[in-house]
Amino acid sequence: MRQFNCERDLNFLSAEQRSKLTEYFRSNRREIKPTILRGMLGVSESESYQIILILTAHRLIRGKYLIYHLQHPDDSYASDRLIEDGLPPLPFYCSICCKNIDTYDELDFQISADITERVTFI
Ligand SMILES: [Zn+2]
Repeated sequence: MRQFNCERDLNFLSAEQRSKLTEYFRSNRREIKPTILRGMLGVSESESYQIILILTAHRLIRGKYLIYHLQHPDDSYASDRLIEDGLPPLPFYCSICCKNIDTYDELDFQISADITERVTFI
């Protein structure tokens, strides 16, 4: 079990929010997203992304972009990619329609992360 001290990078989190985050990381849930953080902690949209990026930088989670081709209106994403690798280079090959996409205008990106450690937030 690793400890993460929120005082330096996530000091906007209250003691109650830290313990909720700890509870989530101790559960069997293995995925975390900005929307989950907003619902669970009541943090702002900006703060929810900040949490994902900081925990990714500390290697407590594996942050990634879910890459959507906007032509497919259902919720399935075409591919994913580690945040630290940046956006996918163009052309992007869509595994759903098997076409090369030449512009980011046809793509959408959501951030998600795999939980790789059980963490106590202090
Ligand atoms: Zn496609």
